[in-house]
Amino acid sequence: MILRIVFLSAFLLFSYHCLAQSTNELDAALPEPRAYIPDSQYLDFVYHDHDDLTRFLRATSARYPNLTALYSIGKSIQGRDLWVMVVSSSPYEHMIGKPDVKYVGNIHGNEPVGRELLLHLIQYFVTSYNTDQYVKWLLDNTRIHIMPSMNPDGYAVSKEGACDGGQGRYNARGFDLNRNFPDYFKQNNKRGQPETDAVKDWISKIQFVLSGSLHGGALVASYPYDNTPNSSPLGVVFQTYSAAPSLTPDDDVFKHLSLVYAKNHAKMSRGVACKSATPAFENGITNGAAWYPLTGGMQDYNYVWYGCMEVTLEISCCKYPPAYELKKYWEDNQLSMIKFLAEAHRGVQGFVLDPTGTPIERASLKIKGRDVGFQTTKHGEFWRILLPGYYKLEVFAEGYAPREVEFIVVEQHPTLLNVTLTPSKRVEGTTVPFYRPLPIPQQQQHYRPISPTYSDSGIFSTISSGLNSLYSNIFG
Ligand SMILES: [Zn+2]
Repeated sequence: MILRIVFLSAFLLFSYHCLAQSTNELDAALPEPRAYIPDSQYLDFVYHDHDDLTRFLRATSARYPNLTALYSIGKSIQGRDLWVMVVSSSPYEHMIGKPDVKYVGNIHGNEPVGRELLLHLIQYFVTSYNTDQYVKWLLDNTRIHIMPSMNPDGYAVSKEGACDGGQGRYNARGFDLNRNFPDYFKQNNKRGQPETDAVKDWISKIQFVLSGSLHGGALVASYPYDNTPNSSPLGVVFQTYSAAPSLTPDDDVFKHLSLVYAKNHAKMSRGVACKSATPAFENGITNGAAWYPLTGGMQDYNYVWYGCMEVTLEISCCKYPPAYELKKYWEDNQLSMIKFLAEAHRGVQGFVLDPTGTPIERASLKIKGRDVGFQTTKHGEFWRILLPGYYKLEVFAEGYAPREVEFIVVEQHPTLLNVTLTPSKRVEGTTVPFYRPLPIPQQQQHYRPISPTYSDSGIFSTISSGLNSLYSNIFG
C-alpha cells in the first residue's frame, strides 16, 4: 500500500511537471474572463439569417487566420452549409494531446438564441485572445469547434417573437433532429437526415471530449441519459418532471458539468420556473429522462458511441425572443459558455503506446466501474473528464495483453497517463473483456448494447412518443 502511494505520488509529480509545460493549471490560477465589450462594428445583437451568418464567419476567418478556421460538415436538405468555426491557437489542425471540444446550436430551428450567442462567443474569443489571460489559456490549450446552426432550414421558417410552438423546429422534411440519432435504449426507426448524418460523420472523425448543445424553451442544463429502458408512457402526463431518472455511470461528472454551466449563469442555478405550469429545476440542472424521456437524442449518442460528454443547455424560456433581448442573453451566458469548455481540462489524459512507443489506435478504454467505454485516436490519445479521486483505467487492444492502471485525479490539473501495452501471446480468439461501444458496424442500423426490458411496439409506445413530442414542443 505504501509502495503504491509512493508510486502514485511520484507519478503525479511527474505528470504535473509534464503538463505544466503544455497546459497551465486548470483555470484556478487565472483571473476570471473579462466582460465582453460588444464589437458592434462587426457583430450586432440582432438575428443573422443564413447569408449574414455565412458572411460573418467568412469575414472572421479572413480577419483572424491565426485563430480561426471555417469548414462545412455538409449541407442541409435545402442546400445550406452546416458551418463549423474552429477557434484555437492551432485552428487548422488537431495538435496531438490538445482536446477538441464543441458547441452545437440551433438543432431546433426555432430555438435560435444559441445560434446568435455562438457568433458572439466566436467574436469574443478572437477579440480577447491578446488581452484576456483566460481566453488565451483556453485557446492555447483547446481546439474549440463552434457550429452555430445545425438546422438552418428550420431557422429560415421560424418567427421572431414565437416563444412556443413547433414552427421551424424540424428540418425541411419535418424531422426532429434531436430524435434522429441511434438510441442506446430503444430502436429508432426514424430515417437518418442529412443534417444528422453530417453530425454523425463529424463526430466519428474528431474525438470530441466535451460538448454543449444549445436549446431554448426552458432554463436548465440537462444531462444524459435522455432515454430510459423503462419509460412509462403515462409518466409523461401524470408525473411530468418527476419521471424516473436514467443515470449514466458518469453521473457525478455530468452533474458537475451541468452545475458549472448553471452556476456561472446569471439565473439558471436559481431554478426558477419559466412559467407557472413548467418545472423549476433544483440548482438549474436535471437528468434528461427525469425531465421527459426521449428517443434518438444527440447527447446520449455522443456519450455512448464516442465518449464525448455532451450536455443539453436550455438557455431561454422563450424559444425565439425578440432581438433586443439578445444582449441580455449574452450577458447571462457568457461566463457559463467559457467555463464549461474549460472543463475539458479536468480528469485524465494520455496515450496508449506499444513497447516501441508507437501509438495504438482504437484501443478500448474504460474507467473501472463505469461501464461506458471510450477509445484512443489514431495518435493513441485519450481523454476522460473525471472528478478528483482514485481510479483504475482498463485498457484493451486487439493483439495486446489487457492492462489495468491505477491513477489519481486532483482538482488543479489533469493527470497525464501513458499506458504501454505488450503484445499478447495468443491473438486468435481473444475475447474482449469489457464493453466496447465502438466502432458501429456499418450494416447495423440500431445499436443496443444491453437488453433492456421494454415494449417497443403497440399502443403504449405510440401514445408515449406522441406525448413526448407534445411535451417537447412545449419545452425545449
Ligand atoms: Zn430544443
